[in-house]
Amino acid sequence: MKIVVDYDKCEGLGMCESMADDYFEVDDDTDQVVVHDDSPEESDRGHVYAAVQACPVLALELRD
Ligand code: SF4
Repeated sequence: MKIVVDYDKCEGLGMCESMADDYFEVDDDTDQVVVHDDSPEESDRGHVYAAVQACPVLALELRD
């Protein structure tokens, strides 16, 4: 499982961070998301998927 970010879409809105701050953080300088670990453990799938789904501009994708 891999987290993929489309940086052309990310607007730093921070919904992903609010859902899963262990994986996502908005950089104050760039106003874009930073992914701490782009290969989550299978046990975190539900948690990460909820954060991916929360992105209002569809900048996040979870690939198997
Ligand atoms: S929710 Fe989407 S737009 Fe907002 S910081 Fe996360 S990836 Fe970027």
